[in-house]
Amino acid sequence: PMKVGIVGLPNVGKSTLFNALTRAGAEAQNYPFTTVDPNVGVAAVPDGRLQRLAEAVGGVRAVPATVEFVDIAGLVRGASRGEGLGNRFLAHIRECDAVAHVVRCFEDENVAHVHGGIDPVGDAETVNAELLLADLATVERRLEQASRAAKSGDPKRRAEAAALERLRDHLAKGGQARTFPEPGEVSEVLRTLLTAKPTLYVANVDEGSLAAGNAYSAAVEELAGREGAGAVRLCARLAAELAELPAEEAREYLGVLGVEESGFEEFVRAAYRLLGLITFFTFNERECRAWTVREGATAREAAGRIHTDMERGFVAAEVGRWEDIVAAGSWARAREEAKVRREGRDYVMRDGDVLLVRFNA
Ligand code: GDP
Repeated sequence: PMKVGIVGLPNVGKSTLFNALTRAGAEAQNYPFTTVDPNVGVAAVPDGRLQRLAEAVGGVRAVPATVEFVDIAGLVRGASRGEGLGNRFLAHIRECDAVAHVVRCFEDENVAHVHGGIDPVGDAETVNAELLLADLATVERRLEQASRAAKSGDPKRRAEAAALERLRDHLAKGGQARTFPEPGEVSEVLRTLLTAKPTLYVANVDEGSLAAGNAYSAAVEELAGREGAGAVRLCARLAAELAELPAEEAREYLGVLGVEESGFEEFVRAAYRLLGLITFFTFNERECRAWTVREGATAREAAGRIHTDMERGFVAAEVGRWEDIVAAGSWARAREEAKVRREGRDYVMRDGDVLLVRFNA
């Protein structure tokens, strides 16, 4: 499964956010919740379409899609030199498909700040500097190999070495691998770099700053814009508190605070988008379920997400749009209205498709 690593300096709210996530996953219940590894949590992806579709196809149980989050605590200054538990943490980030970078945008005298004052952009840069140094070391090593190979005079090797040199210079100037202007030439190396990973800044604000943001979160959004990263605003403490409450009470609590949500749901949705994932739906007499595939996946690959037998024995798929099924009030009615198409194995799935697979078992 796709994994999002949660990084950030100590005391910015990572564990609090992670607790909210794992609660939300436990709430979804239909998923075997991993207690084996305390640093991995499975969160249900909030999706307003699912419940409506579940009602339309017979009032069945709704089963959400999920994303895995990994709590990568302990990244501190000096990590790239192996200080603290540095190297291990960098290795954990390397295994993730995307990064959620939490920065502190709340003031609270009871919560110490590791480097003095509240400075989310400075904090982000401290963490990023460690990631950059690790990437620089990786690229230097590759460049050395490539330069040696280029001595043979092979023009392809020389072009590769030259591209790696440009990448090294880009990183040395503080540019993240994500913003390297010619990724095509070094795509294989880029896949191994920490600062090439899709990244989402998470501005952890106070309850009071949720709606409009504050100067800190504005600065974080600007940073994200410069770096080709995403940004969301949330209140981790509120999210964790809400996760403890039954849905009805949580809504009331939000009402009292005068906000729509803690930012948590938007955070999970943003992380999901960051992974380049899309959702499709299936249903039967018992449940209506949201599934995840990468963008560009075919109907046959989507069938494989449900069951390997369905992929192997794939014959055809019936495909409808979730909004058409909801509007028609049932799958049968939508089909009568010619809103359900028959598609072959190479059909490219769209976000929001409802899929019924015909297959030979
Ligand atoms: P971590 O070291 O990054 O995992 O940070 P924690 O999640 O342990 O949070 C550090 C402290 O900040 C804890 O005491 C939290 O209760 C507090 N905290 C987390 N989020 C918020 C927030 O949104 N507002 C305020 N005021 N405190 C928060």
